[in-house]
Amino acid sequence: MALPKALLSFFLYSLILICSASAKSQSVTQNDSLQVNILPAGQQHSHLSAGMYYFRVGTKLSLQQAILRPPRPWVFRANSSLHLTDEDQYTWIKMPLQRANNAGEQWIMTIDWPLIRAIDWYHVTGENNQLQAQGSFTNWQIPPGAPDEFPFAIELKIESHATETLYLRIQHSEKALVPVTFWTPETFASHKLDRNWFLGLFYGVLLAMFAYNLSLFAFVQNRGFASYCFYVLTMAAYTSVMNGSGVAWLWSAMPEFLDYAYRITVPLAFLGAVVFIRDFLMLKKQGAFFDITSQLACAIWVLFLLLIPFVSPAVLIPAIEVFGFINCVYGFTTSSYLWWKRDASAKYLTLSWAILIFSTVILIMGLRDFIPYQIELHYLQNVGVTIEVLLLSMALAERINRERQMRFEAQDMALQMSKEASKAKESEVSAQERLLGIERRVKEELSLKVHEQTRELKVAMQKLQIMNKELERLSLTDALTGLANRRHFDDRLADEINRATRNETSLGLLMLDIDHFKQINDTFGHPAGDKVIQTLSALIQRVSGRASDLPARVGGEEFCLLVAGETASSVAQLAENLRQTAQNETAVHENNHINYTVSIGFTCITPSQIITASSLMKQADDALYKAKRGGRNCVVNYALIEAEN
Ligand code: GH3
Ligand code: MG
Ligand code: MG
Repeated sequence: MALPKALLSFFLYSLILICSASAKSQSVTQNDSLQVNILPAGQQHSHLSAGMYYFRVGTKLSLQQAILRPPRPWVFRANSSLHLTDEDQYTWIKMPLQRANNAGEQWIMTIDWPLIRAIDWYHVTGENNQLQAQGSFTNWQIPPGAPDEFPFAIELKIESHATETLYLRIQHSEKALVPVTFWTPETFASHKLDRNWFLGLFYGVLLAMFAYNLSLFAFVQNRGFASYCFYVLTMAAYTSVMNGSGVAWLWSAMPEFLDYAYRITVPLAFLGAVVFIRDFLMLKKQGAFFDITSQLACAIWVLFLLLIPFVSPAVLIPAIEVFGFINCVYGFTTSSYLWWKRDASAKYLTLSWAILIFSTVILIMGLRDFIPYQIELHYLQNVGVTIEVLLLSMALAERINRERQMRFEAQDMALQMSKEASKAKESEVSAQERLLGIERRVKEELSLKVHEQTRELKVAMQKLQIMNKELERLSLTDALTGLANRRHFDDRLADEINRATRNETSLGLLMLDIDHFKQINDTFGHPAGDKVIQTLSALIQRVSGRASDLPARVGGEEFCLLVAGETASSVAQLAENLRQTAQNETAVHENNHINYTVSIGFTCITPSQIITASSLMKQADDALYKAKRGGRNCVVNYALIEAEN
């Protein structure tokens, strides 16, 4: 809140200054009688109460020659200061003075304008223009006894209360003004103190801002700080020329510089301003128009600097001032336009630029005689410069901060985005993993199912095989007895005959038939008959006993037994054994013990004999038939039948 208050008081003070200055200039009027300036009593300081007489001349007249000029050619000016333009001419100024009744004798007159090359002064009194005192300042060489640190200060002793006259012969360098002020010794001392304080403060601020921004430039390496420092330097140079502090403290040993000071420092200050604005508002990036025009402005100011040795100040200075005005308008509109375009930096620049332009316009009004020039106008511009420099430094720091903030935000955003991207990537990866998992599980389940089904298929096939085998077995086996059936027996019989023939081994075939089986059936019932069949088949298996033997049920109650590799006598013995066992055994069915007998016919073939299955079967059958006819329950060898025939 301190800044707006300071700005407000700055503008109010400026307004008061303008109003009071114009009020003073209007209060003085001109008439033909001699206008005498009254040196007042008890005041701080005094500008000329009436005004001054002056004329310009090409030759360096002496005091006598100037006094002898008729009164009319002296031009009266009802003002405290005089604006000088043509540097080739000498300017004579005449100030009639009169001390007020209670005013003191000692006075100090100052001309607060540093760009004056030489002043010769003459203090005359009385009708005969008696020379009371005289002195001269040449090229800023302050004469012995003159008040120090102040360019043009003349000590006067106004003894009488009659009218005395002060004459000045002035030779100026480039741009000159003659602002006259009268001081009592006390007020002058306090004014000097105030002035030094003010200038010390002013340059202190500039120096602090310069050092601060230079160190920022060293650390941050942002061009904006460097161009700010350059601008502050050029402003310091310009103001030190205009307020006389430069010539008093910096280049007092080099008075020739005064002849060029204004022409050098004004373009330099504008160059500094344009360079700074270019960097501060980043005109390079604001479009081709701003880029080119700002570069052009820089080039023109450099050109002005280069032209100094070749162009007379009478041409160059107005050109500089006109272009300076154009530059101010350009800078102000550019920055206002960018402010309107919502550029935050442009707002600060427009404000500070406005303050500087306002104070400068007031100063120029004073310099150009629109309002009476006073020393305060100059200080006003310095105050404007101070505020501008402070504001711009703050704005620069704010802009760099803002940029850094934006950079941070951008970095944050990039980080956030990369995080989100990696999150998305992660979720994509996890989705892929899930998908892969599902696929794997499906595959596993599928292979498990296939495996299971294969296993089931295998089991089914095994079952089928078993069933097939069972079927085969069943097709080859007799259901009631579990012995080979007729079909199986017939197949095996042919094989066994072939084998016996091939291996030249013997082969015996027994044929059994239960005797009077019809009666058993009739007596005990069909199931009992079955039981007898089963009992006999078990008996045949038990008694034959060898794995190579093949027992079979070949008819209702008829059985065959094939015996390989046995002699005829052992086969006969086997047959007899079977018959006897059957005779001695009973079949048990439902508490009935059923006795039965069997008739057996058998045949045996020798290794050399070649015979068909049917022939062999017929031989056994023939033998059985004989046994039946022979009375049953007996064994018959086919060989006996053969022998009988
Ligand atoms: P033979 O002493 O002359 O042999 O007199 P037989 O009564 O045994 O006469 P034959 O051999 O001609 O008769 C067989 C009978 O056996 C006829 C039939 O009813 C009976 N039979 C055939 N198959 C079966 C069977 O599986 N079970 C039963 N219980 N009886 C059968
Ligand atoms: Mg029979
Ligand atoms: Mg029978």
